[in-house]
Amino acid sequence: MAVDFGAAVVATGARNFEPSGLFNYGKDSHVVTQAQLEKMLGKGISANNITMIQCVGARNKDREYCGRTCCIDAVKNATRIKKANSSANVYVLYRDMRTYGVMEKLYENARDLGVIFIKYDAGNPPGVQDGTVVVHDTMLNEDIEIASDLVVLSTPLVAGENEEINQLFKIPLDKNKFFLEAHPKLRPVDFATDGVFLCGSAQAPKLMDEAISQASAAASRACTILSRKFIETEGAVSVVNEARCIGCGTCVTACPYNAPQLQEVTVKAEEVTYTTKKSRINAAACKGCGSCAAACPAGAITAQHFSSKEIGEAIDAFDKGVKSISIEKGVVEVTV
Ligand code: SF4
Ligand code: SF4
Ligand code: SF4
Repeated sequence: MAVDFGAAVVATGARNFEPSGLFNYGKDSHVVTQAQLEKMLGKGISANNITMIQCVGARNKDREYCGRTCCIDAVKNATRIKKANSSANVYVLYRDMRTYGVMEKLYENARDLGVIFIKYDAGNPPGVQDGTVVVHDTMLNEDIEIASDLVVLSTPLVAGENEEINQLFKIPLDKNKFFLEAHPKLRPVDFATDGVFLCGSAQAPKLMDEAISQASAAASRACTILSRKFIETEGAVSVVNEARCIGCGTCVTACPYNAPQLQEVTVKAEEVTYTTKKSRINAAACKGCGSCAAACPAGAITAQHFSSKEIGEAIDAFDKGVKSISIEKGVVEVTV
């Protein structure tokens, strides 16, 4: 299906990591994830000894990043359990507690309610066997056995199937397959491709309020395009000479900004009328990099202000002894 659009916001989100095979998950029904526990808490749980294990499937060689939300989820769920049943024993086995910003208050409240936090080392993770969790407490420097009715694994969000959208819009992915913004500080919701914006956990794991703030920013950025009657483009963009174009699609592949598109056109040549494909460059998306002009096998593309003739004449001028040529504010300065 083809959709005409003026601006697009990529908000594909992320999915929960499935910890299959880790800590008996999938084999032992008493081992669940934080997302599953959250659903169970809606109906109430009978377990009295609950042990949570942090950083399951995160901050390791497969996934080096921190899930960011899983410490907060653990503290939130531990607090709910203690508030519903103050005699419940809740243990959180952690590498680092990352309840950043104002969420640190949740951590303090959980400690006040009696949730017990035990630090373990990444090189010596806890073990789960027959309802008992064994952990080496790095503070006490000794092994502790915790009888557990329920073991809860804190897992990170992982990227969804982003490759198709990555190819469609030509927008980059990072090594974890999350979308990569144009600049983390200066253009945090933009892509390098104009008119395409980003928000939410499609970029990295995020809390709900962070995702909402970013969604507002992305919508505002999209409105800066959609509210205009027309878009003023740069002069230095590439144009296609349709008469020369053979519709090979090389420029579509070569362009990093998704600016050229093959379009069906009807050509009348003397007595013959036929339909073929020709490239057209969206001047609003073109950055004038010239990659397509260099790649076009038919010489059909001209990068305006950098045509082959202009570049050739500059080279000739150097050959004849011109030291430099510069163009500033429309004035050409030649040094001989
Ligand atoms: S948020 Fe906490 S549990 Fe999740 S990966 Fe980071 S440190 Fe580990
Ligand atoms: S590379 Fe050149 S010939 Fe091929 S589609 Fe693009 S403009 Fe046409
Ligand atoms: S000049 Fe660069 S940005 Fe413009 S259409 Fe060609 S390859 Fe794309």
